[in-house]
Amino acid sequence: MKLFECLACGQPLYFENTACESCGRRLGFLPDSGVLSALEPVQRVDGVEAWLALAAPERQYRFCRNVAYDACNWLVPAEVDGASVDPEPYCLACAHNRTVPDLSVPENTTNWRRIESAKHRLFHGLLRLDLPHETRDEDTEEGLAFDFLADPPDPSAPRIVTGHDNGLITISLIEADDAARERIRVQMHEPYRTLLGHFRHEIGHYYWERLVRRTGDNSETMATFRNLFGDERQDYGEALKKHYDAGPAVGWQEGYVSAYAAVHPWEDFAETWAHYMHIVDTLETAGAFGLRVKPRISRGEELGARIDFDPYHADAVEQLIEAFLPVTFAVNSLNRSMGQQDFYPFVLSPAAISKLDFIHQLCRRAREGRPEARQGAQHETAPLQQASQPQIETVAEDDVTEQTAALLTVASQLALNPVS
Ligand SMILES: [Zn+2]
Ligand SMILES: [Zn+2]
Ligand SMILES: [Zn+2]
Repeated sequence: MKLFECLACGQPLYFENTACESCGRRLGFLPDSGVLSALEPVQRVDGVEAWLALAAPERQYRFCRNVAYDACNWLVPAEVDGASVDPEPYCLACAHNRTVPDLSVPENTTNWRRIESAKHRLFHGLLRLDLPHETRDEDTEEGLAFDFLADPPDPSAPRIVTGHDNGLITISLIEADDAARERIRVQMHEPYRTLLGHFRHEIGHYYWERLVRRTGDNSETMATFRNLFGDERQDYGEALKKHYDAGPAVGWQEGYVSAYAAVHPWEDFAETWAHYMHIVDTLETAGAFGLRVKPRISRGEELGARIDFDPYHADAVEQLIEAFLPVTFAVNSLNRSMGQQDFYPFVLSPAAISKLDFIHQLCRRAREGRPEARQGAQHETAPLQQASQPQIETVAEDDVTEQTAALLTVASQLALNPVS
């Protein structure tokens, strides 16, 4: 995440701020330019409440309808092609909400706001990665939509399950309750469980459908996916049951970003996707703060990093990893100074980095709008189609740079001493 400042008075701001604490101006986020802008009210003869954004003064804006619930701070243009927009418009992020919980229950409103806060960070990442995100109205078959649902009051009724189904992402409201979520995290033996993590995981399932499955069963993309993550045609229900009955396979750390990733290739992809989004966002934030890491120990050079590139447009996955691991070493240490759990309680392996590289290249290809392999194209018989679809080259396990390999070794040794 970038670091924002009030364009009227220079006060530093967080992405979630709705007013400047220094000069009192209203603030709104402009998704097109990715800027949180100070605003000036506009007196309009038609009585419509509109604003001038100091960052984009050439047009007027309105707030998203969810601003009324303190659940959003994003702006929409007041007019598009000279015509007024919906008098109660939704912003780019909130237009994807299909169901929100019953807001007459006060605790639902509090939990929904937390969900919205994570969802807006998710969308910020999707916009930075330039990924497609059509709504259900724009793509009735496979558009993206969210249901945020509270468990039914009857304790014997089935609970809401967080998950993804053909573009529809369901998030159980209970995940916004810190005590409940922490209880689930401990029960499931997870080192990390957050709302933002849920969003980034579930959207990973969505982009598997869009960027991998849609290329067709015989595409190069699919072949590379199966080579790295395994064959997703294996029975999902059985795989999940096996995981819950017998626990994760011994040695999962060698091949997966998390134990849950070892359940099934779909979960592996979604977990790895979430880590990719964690990594680029963390690095952007670290870069915005001008963070340099150079530990004052004899191996300080080797374990250091400088973030002088845009992580959302990195050249290669190794550029990300070589910056990210030193940052995690530093921030894990900072967290321990505060008696907190590790900030990044995971260990990356060369195999996991190959998978991150696959996702890095999928995102890059989606951004560059390069064609997907045709549905049903045969490898052997369609050399021309192959030529039009550049192959995804992945980092072979024994092929990571010396610098990455050295960092991975140190990171895995440090992880042998988790904070208890
Ligand atoms: Zn200000
Ligand atoms: Zn909104
Ligand atoms: Zn999943």
